[in-house]
Amino acid sequence: MPLKAKIRSRRAKVAVTLLSGLLPVVLGAAILYVQAGRALKHSTEVIAEEAILQFDLMLDNTAQAARELLPLAGQKCAEVNLALREQVTRRPFVRSTNLVWDNNLYCSSLFGKFEEKVNPGDYTQGALWLMNGNPVTPNTALLVYRLSEGKKGALTTLDGYHLSNVLRLIGRKTLLLLQVGPDWMSADGMVHTGAPPVPPIASTRLTSEHYAFAVEAGFPRGEIWRYMSSEYPPLFSLLLFFGVIAGSIGHFLQKRSLAPTQEMQRALHASEFIPYFQPVVHGNDESWSGAEVLMRWKHPKEGLVRPDLFIPFAEHSGLIVPMTRSLMRQTAALLGPQSATLRKPFHIGINITASHCRDLALIKDCREFLDAFEPGSIHLVLELTERELIEPTPITLQLFEQLRELGVKIAIDDFGTGHSSLGYLRQFNVDFLKIDQSFVAMIGVDTLSSHILDSIIELAVKLDLALVAEGVETREQSEYLRAHQVNFLQGYLFGKPMPGAEFISALSDH
Ligand code: C2E
Ligand code: CA
Ligand code: CA
Repeated sequence: MPLKAKIRSRRAKVAVTLLSGLLPVVLGAAILYVQAGRALKHSTEVIAEEAILQFDLMLDNTAQAARELLPLAGQKCAEVNLALREQVTRRPFVRSTNLVWDNNLYCSSLFGKFEEKVNPGDYTQGALWLMNGNPVTPNTALLVYRLSEGKKGALTTLDGYHLSNVLRLIGRKTLLLLQVGPDWMSADGMVHTGAPPVPPIASTRLTSEHYAFAVEAGFPRGEIWRYMSSEYPPLFSLLLFFGVIAGSIGHFLQKRSLAPTQEMQRALHASEFIPYFQPVVHGNDESWSGAEVLMRWKHPKEGLVRPDLFIPFAEHSGLIVPMTRSLMRQTAALLGPQSATLRKPFHIGINITASHCRDLALIKDCREFLDAFEPGSIHLVLELTERELIEPTPITLQLFEQLRELGVKIAIDDFGTGHSSLGYLRQFNVDFLKIDQSFVAMIGVDTLSSHILDSIIELAVKLDLALVAEGVETREQSEYLRAHQVNFLQGYLFGKPMPGAEFISALSDH
């Protein structure tokens, strides 16, 4: 593998591991964020309700004082002064009481006889006015309650100190405001005029059902993260734990899926895939007509590995193409020099898969292979398993056409186990059918399988195709097949797959 590709694939692996680890953490954190937002909203709702309750209670006292004093309005100040002061003393939260006649404040619990114009327009809904102070205490806020009936009027005031106390004690960590008409008060006791600020997080606004005021509660920016970091540390640890688990699983899965391919890549470079040769004999005299090349993995630790264990991975990863190329080169190097001694034409079977049929590279490999032998000394037979049928695309048809021009033969391997049709056999110019060993094994055992075998043989004769029987292990099987004109036989009875050197020395004996 080129170095750049290796670095890229390592980066991709790290990225996938990180992503799979981060995903549960990010998702979990998002869920906790939403949950924290809900919890804060609930707490501002509770706080706003509580504040409304407290302010209503205070105003109830002020309103009660005004109600009791209203009938006295119009009487001389000296006569009612005591009653005014009595209300201040008796009623909690009431700071001062005043009587009004025809919109003129004429008597006060603080100063006695007094003169001041009253403008009903200053009062929200004619009843409440939040002020920054009055001539007596200029910088102490107060809330004035106004009650009037005809020319009679009573004004009772509530000390701003009580109001800011409520805002501070109930509000705690929230931003809590009291709003009366255009004026509003914050927990520091200051009264401002204009639109009150809307708290950025979980803001809740509630209006009193009894008096003309509203409260606004909320949290400053960043409160959700502060809340999460103080309330959720155990959940965060759990999230991190899940993240680590998910990351490890991601890492492990990648390692597992990449491991066989990487290992085979290494083995290919180390030339660990080697050819074994199994003889194929003539049906009539059992002389060697050729050999099938079977791949073996000479693993440094595992020993000799059977192809069924690694060929599927090789096909899946596309490595089968370079592996077959290496096998063909090794075979050519071994048998090429023996050209002169081979019984002509000597069949050399190479197993190919669908991956080989996607482009025309196989042509070059076959030409190179054939060039290693004396002209006309061998027949190269490509074995294509029937279990994996090849799509007749323009490329594959062109490939098989050019192979034919090169003199390469085609055999359908494991014949009888798949479902190739007559058209298929014709389209790819098939020369041999290799009867699957499962049918051969049933000779003399299972009559149905023998029938299928007979039909295959009949079909091959009709189509003028040569037949090779695989997995011939007994004399009985061999007799049967020969009696049914099967041209070539292959199996342990004649020879097991063997390493190159052994095969070459056995060749001279046959
Ligand atoms: P296959 O092409 O059908 O190969 C024949 C298999 O039958 C070989 O198994 C061979 O050792 C086994 N065999 C031969 N005679 C007998 C017998 O008398 N009795 C029994 N029980 N078995 C016999 P092997 O070598 O283990 O190969 C298994 C399969 O792996 C092959 O089946 C073939 O599909 C695949 N394979 C092997 N080499 C290659 C290769 O180079 N390329 C590809 N694509 N596939 C290969
Ligand atoms: Ca085969
Ligand atoms: Ca086979």
